[in-house]
Amino acid sequence: MKKVAISACLLGEKCRYDATDNKNEILLEQLKDAQLIPFCPEDFAFGSPRPTMDLVRTQQEDKALSNLTGEDLSGPITEYARLFFDRHSKLDLFIGKDRSPSCGVCSARLYDEKQNLFSSKEAGLMTKEAKKRNIRCVDAEDFKGSI
Ligand code: SF4
Repeated sequence: MKKVAISACLLGEKCRYDATDNKNEILLEQLKDAQLIPFCPEDFAFGSPRPTMDLVRTQQEDKALSNLTGEDLSGPITEYARLFFDRHSKLDLFIGKDRSPSCGVCSARLYDEKQNLFSSKEAGLMTKEAKKRNIRCVDAEDFKGSI
């Protein structure tokens, strides 16, 4: 059975910033023969509901900054990602919720430090960790049904 890491909100977990989900029945039907391993770095680190965050390019690196306080929230997200991929080392695929600053694969928005949109084709912080480990990654909206 193929092992697929997947954003928990796509499975119906109410872990979005506003404590709602992104349940995707069509996607779940396509994945019915796979072993699904859900993750949600933001819910784990900050709970739900929580303030939103943006991915921002700084001089050092791309960071997730709170839209409420400007605080750098990257550390707990990256730490969660490292532990998750250490624990689940033989994944066939990573499916991330498109446009999320944590889980987007080729769709996260990246801003500069003056809040100008820099790109809308970036990887979120959890996805960056998956890519570092050479795990095949796809945005949920781009998944075509084959693993
Ligand atoms: S997109 Fe990722 S961080 Fe956001 S709610 Fe879904 S699983 Fe959690």
